[in-house]
This record gives sequence, C-alpha cells and structure tokens, in this order.
Amino acid sequence: MPGKNLSRDEAQARAGILSVDGYEVRLDVTGAPDLANATFRSTTTIRFSCSEPGASTFADLLAPSVRAVTLNGRALDPALVFDGARVALDELAAENVLVVDADCAYSRTGEGLHRFTDPADGETYLYTHYEPAEARRVFANFEQPDLKAPYLFTVTAPAAWDVYANAAEREVTEQAGSRTWHFLETKPISTYLTAVVAGPYHVARDHWSRELPDGSTLEIPLAATCRKSLARYFDAEEIFTVTKQGLDFFHDEFDYPYPFGKYDQCFVPEYNIGAMENPGCVTFREDFVFRSKVTEAAYEGRANVILHEMAHMWFGDLVTMKWWDDLWLKESFADFMGSFALREATKYQAAWVTFANQRKAWAYRQDQYPTTHPITADIRDVEAAKLNFDGITYAKGAAVLKQLVAYAGREGFFEGARRYFQQHAFGNTVLGDLLEVLAVTSGRGEQAMADWSKAWLQTAGVNALTPQVTVDAEGRITELAVLQDGATLRPHRIAVGLYDREPDGTLLRTARVELDVSGARTVVEELAGRPRPALVLVNDDDLTYCKIRFDADSLATLRTSLGDIQDTLARALAWSACWNLTRDGLLPARDYLELVLRFAGRESDIGVLQTLHTQAKGALEFFVDPGHRARSARQLADCALRELRAAAPGSDHQLAWARFLAITATDEEHLVLLEGLLAGTARIDGLEVDQDLRWSLWIALAAEGRATAEQLAAELQRDNTASGNQKATQALAARPTAEAKAAAWSAVVDDDSLPNAMVSAQTSGFAQAGQRELIAPYAARYFELLETIWAERSIEIAIRFVGGFFPRLQTDDATLAATDAWLADHPDAAAALRRLVLESRDELARALRAQAADRG
Ligand SMILES: [Zn+2]
Repeated sequence: MPGKNLSRDEAQARAGILSVDGYEVRLDVTGAPDLANATFRSTTTIRFSCSEPGASTFADLLAPSVRAVTLNGRALDPALVFDGARVALDELAAENVLVVDADCAYSRTGEGLHRFTDPADGETYLYTHYEPAEARRVFANFEQPDLKAPYLFTVTAPAAWDVYANAAEREVTEQAGSRTWHFLETKPISTYLTAVVAGPYHVARDHWSRELPDGSTLEIPLAATCRKSLARYFDAEEIFTVTKQGLDFFHDEFDYPYPFGKYDQCFVPEYNIGAMENPGCVTFREDFVFRSKVTEAAYEGRANVILHEMAHMWFGDLVTMKWWDDLWLKESFADFMGSFALREATKYQAAWVTFANQRKAWAYRQDQYPTTHPITADIRDVEAAKLNFDGITYAKGAAVLKQLVAYAGREGFFEGARRYFQQHAFGNTVLGDLLEVLAVTSGRGEQAMADWSKAWLQTAGVNALTPQVTVDAEGRITELAVLQDGATLRPHRIAVGLYDREPDGTLLRTARVELDVSGARTVVEELAGRPRPALVLVNDDDLTYCKIRFDADSLATLRTSLGDIQDTLARALAWSACWNLTRDGLLPARDYLELVLRFAGRESDIGVLQTLHTQAKGALEFFVDPGHRARSARQLADCALRELRAAAPGSDHQLAWARFLAITATDEEHLVLLEGLLAGTARIDGLEVDQDLRWSLWIALAAEGRATAEQLAAELQRDNTASGNQKATQALAARPTAEAKAAAWSAVVDDDSLPNAMVSAQTSGFAQAGQRELIAPYAARYFELLETIWAERSIEIAIRFVGGFFPRLQTDDATLAATDAWLADHPDAAAALRRLVLESRDELARALRAQAADRG
C-alpha cells in the first residue's frame, strides 16, 4: 500500500514544519461484541501549527473507509485526499484544525485495536497495541515519536464495560445501552504510547504514595486487570508488591516523581510481545497470569517485565527517542533497569544470573548474524523499525550499559540519568544528548565517553576474550594475558577470576583482579607468581559483553567438574561459555550434551536449568551429527526421567524435568509413562499434572502419533479456554500425518483471518524434529510464497510466517542452496523480509558447521 511504510526522511520533513498542540480522539466501540461489526467509528481532531504556511503534508491513517475530512473548516473529499494509508493535507495555515471521521477496523493480528472473544464465557475484550506505528489503525495522526502532544480520549463502550486509557477518567456518562468515558488530558506523549483497553475486565486496585521534598504527597492509584475468566488465577497482590518496590526504587534513583498520575497494568489476550510501556496504562501478555504451576523463574521473569516497563515511564515515555535509530535509548535502558531494579529492590536476587545466562544468549546470537547492527542503528522506515526490537537493541544494549556502570561507576551512571530527565522531560533525544551528560557525570571525560560510545554503541559484533597462561616448572603462573579478538577491538572493564579445588572437590574463587583490557593482548600483572589454578574465568562477575573462551586446562576442568563451581553466577557463565563454544563448532555438540547429562541434575538455579533444557534440545535438533541423534535423544530422555524421579516432590526442579521429559521422549517406555500421567494411572510423587502440563504431554504424544483428534477434542472440552484452544491447535498440527501438516499449512496460508496467536500455534505444531521427511516438501512452497505473504499480510503475521515455516529442520546442503537461490533471485524483496531470511539462512549454515564439528 503506498505510503504505509513511513520513512525517516518523510518524518523529518514533517517534524521540520509541524508542531502539534493537541489531539481529541473519540472512539465508539459499542458494537464490538457483535462480530458482524467489522469496524468502529473514530473521530479525531488535531490542532497543529505549521511554520511554513501554504505547505503540504499528510496525516497517517490505516482505515477501510473515511466518512469526512475537514481542514480549517474546509471539507475535503475523502475519495481525493485519502489513499488507504494517508490523508493528504494541502494549503496549511499557520494554525490548523484537522478533523477526520473514519471507520477503523477491529484487529485480529494484535496490531491496532485488537478484538478477542473469550471462548470460556463469550465475553468480548479490546485493547490497543501500536509500537512502532500502528496507532494510525485506530485514529488519524502524525505517526512519529517526535511529534508529541497531549491527548483527550473519549470512548463510548457497552454499558457493562470498563475502559482504561493513559489518563484517569474525568467523567463517565450513561445513555441507553452504553457509557461514555471522558478521560483527562494526557501529558505530551508520542502516538505509539497512547492506549485504550476496554471490556468487562476483572480489576484489582491498590495505591502507592510518597512524600515529595516540598512536603506534599504524591498519590498514585494502582490497578491490575485481566479477563474475568482468569480472575481466579490472578495474583494481583504479588504484582502490586513488585510494582510498589519498583516505584520506590525508581523514585529514589531517578529523582523525578512518577509523572503520569496513575499506574494501570492490564493483562490482555493474544498479545504480540511481552508488554508495552503505555504511560499510565501498561499492557502485558496474559501468559503472565499463571493458571497452572510455574517455576520461580516465571515469577522472576514477570517481575523483570513489570520493572522493565516501569523504567520506560522515564526512559521512553518522559524522554523519548527522536526516531527509531535511537530505539536503544529506551529499550537498552529499560532492559538493564529491569534486572538492576530486580536485584536491588525485590526478592529476586538471581536477576544477574538470569541476565548473564539467558538474556545475553539472545544478544550473542543476534550479534553474529550477517544482519547485525550497531546498538545505535540506521533505521530508514517503520518496517525496519519493527525488526529492530531485537537482541541487539534490548539485550546487547543492556549488557553494554552494565559495562558502562562498571566503566563509569554506579553513581556517575545514575547522576547522568537524573540530569538527562531534568533536561529533556517531555522532549525527544538522540545519542549525543545522553553522552553529553555522561561525559560530565562519569568522571571519564568527553573524549573517553566519545571513544567508549564509538566502540560500544556505534559498531557491531562481539569480541571473544581468551586467557593465555604460561607456567614455570613449579607450576606457578609466569604470565597470564587476556587475548581479545573480533572485528572491532574494544575497551573492556573486566574481572579475571581464578578458581581452585577445595578438599571436598568444590571449585572456589581464590583470586580476582579487575582491570581495563584493550587491544589484542593485555597482561594481568597482578596474577604472576600465583599457583596455576584449575580454572581461569575471564569476565568473571559478567561485567562486560563478550564471548568467554578458556585455555585448554580450564576447559579440561569444566569437562570433569563444571557442576563443582560453587558460585551460581560463575557457574552460569561457564554454562553460557560452553553453549557459545558449541554454537561456534569449537565444542562438539555431543560433548556439550555430555556436560548437561553429567551436571544439569545438580544445577540449583531453576532459571539456568530451564535454559539448559532449551539449549540441550536445540543442540540435539540442530547441532548433533544426524547419525547420532537418536542415541543422544534417548540419553537426554533417560536423564530427564532419572532426575524427575530424584527431584524433591512438588519442587520447581521436578516440574522442569517433567517438561523436559515431554520434549525429549521418543522411546516406548517414556511415552507410556506420559500417557499414564495423563490418564492418572502413573504418578510421580508430588508432581501435579495440571492443565498446562497436560497440554505439554498431549503435544508430545501427538507428535509421536499417539493422540487422536477425538482425544484432543475431549481435552479441549475439558479446557475450552483461550490457551486451551491454542494448545489444542498446536497438538493437532503436531500429529505426524500428511493430512495434519497440510491442514496446519493451509490454515495459515489460505486463511488471512487467522489471529496472531493461532498462526503461532499452527507453525509451532507443524515443525516437529521427528518429522523432517514429512515436512520436507513444504520448503519449496515456502520460498514460492514468501513475497506474496509479505505483501498481503500485516507485518506481524508475515513475520510469524517467515520465521515459523522456514525449513530450519532441513539441515542439509540442498536447503541451504535453496535459501541462497531465493536470496540471489530476490535482491529487491523488502529489506525487512530479506533480513529475516538472511538470519534463518545463517542459523542453517551454523547448524551444518556444528554438525560437521560433531562428526569430528
Ligand atoms: Zn521495552
């Protein structure tokens, strides 16, 4: 569609001549419960000034139809000025009033105003999600982050509903069958941050208050909502506890009172991402409402997201990036602050372990794709922006900020943040604005900060750090050096740890030296003369962002004793380093699995254990030499069963091993046990086979051809809920028959009304590791369809198709060649589409290299 992919150049030109005084947005969603109503009425009044009277510009709007457009009292013909994506505006005055009266579409893709019907009770729920540029699906606007304005929202909805928006309601008026919610004016915010949530949501309320320096009290009402049918699972108290801890923490550290008046947190169905930081009205995926037993890692993960979004109230909402190039200015900070506040302000003390082991794995993966980019990116249009919510912008950016805290000091870092908020409140910024304050507050100076920024923020790629140890005849270190490699050598603030065996066999740190490393080789003078340790850990304490490598003796120690490392963070770093070695083909995949088989059973940190399970499954499916796959699978499943039986009854570890057994079981013995657990004829003491675990078991059995459509229908009847429907769909698609595969494929390809969550259920059921031959024929069809799907579907659905159906299980030269052929034949395909295919291609090539390494 022309004009749909708004470019940076267009946005810059528009911001060059416009400033927006305010929006009034009226939405009427009274007809939402009747699915026959595909659209809702949206009337927007924008008051804006133009510095070049007589100039032309456009407003953004993605709507099926426009009833009327009025500019400065002059009626414009919608047929002439509206092309489906933009409203052309000519002959601007110095002061302008634009009124656009449109019919906008309810969404089923999670973009714009999403409509969901609850299968459990038939109730209808709405919520908006806009980032980066989907507010224009709901009201006419100037869709770019740097044209901030205050908003007055008015929403008419069914009488029994509640409506939430960025500001509190000023008044609710009633008329026959409906109520109209008049909201207070918001602070100046960007379009992508506006929000409306409407429906018969269940709500819990609380409040938070703090005394301000002038003696007055800041009172912030808190609300937390979820669908009515989830209310009995909703642990709002725990959510409010973390919320208040976070508000206290940020209030103190940022020294800028929470600016948005109230704090609602809405858990909504079929949500595309983890959560969104709409000021005063944060939206979360409702998987965070736990209806079955989950591990402590899931609670920690949710608390992290709560704090991440809260950090955005300052980094992102109060001060916003000018354009998507500087997306990191909010996402890297929020990601870093999520873990930082979790560790400092809540009971989740393992936050940095999770960060090192899990979050950074995402960054390392992304940073080795051919499509990687500097943390400050070059984002030409909103399609490119959509793809940059990635492992670089979030996890690498956060890791680099952790490094900045090590480099500039905690106080320098937070003082920089405080000045940044004071100087830029309700404004927009670029990289230079942040560096300016940090140059002063870090104590490192302007040039050092500029160099640091250049090395860390403006270049791509990851360095590997390797210890090089020489010892004398007595076994004493004569020299310990840290070698750095990578395309760009960087200054790293690191800690080097030496570990030795205690008499009882445990590995404990016996020395730690913190130093600046730069260049290809840095000698650690302080460690000369010490006895040669069992293990040298560079980047101990995880201060910097790098791939940790080992000298030969240290790697030998890990092979025999990884589980003996006492410190949880050090052990997590060792696990993470071994995973990187495996991905790089430097450690054979079966050697990595051997480490898992030997030591995973002793891993005390539940988050690390769950990451090991995911990585072991990945190593098995992609990196193990295919000739050895079956044997390795059996070993993993045997290990899972052994640990499941050994785990403390009712423990998180027990649940994690049960899930791992489900995803590795292929043997008759194991599958019969899974069936028995479902039927209640087999029991593991303390293991509750609750609804979510039941679905995990059903999906595993379905993939092995041991679940009929009738059985799955019966299970769905038992759990006819939103997630029950998704899981049943996934299980049906997982069955090893040509018909099941054809049905899953067709559901996505031939039906463009399939909602976002169901597209994912179909693709994840479709691709089963044990069914490589069955799904092989779809590879050719996939490449044929790529461009059509990209052109015809919304970007959210297209991304799910491209990633979900890529033939990643076909790890062979022919599939790699087919991918290369598509890339060669489609140089002009959309850049965002090419990026996704290039990344999948890179994973495939990596798998082939790792398999070769595993063959030896
Ligand atoms: Zn974020």
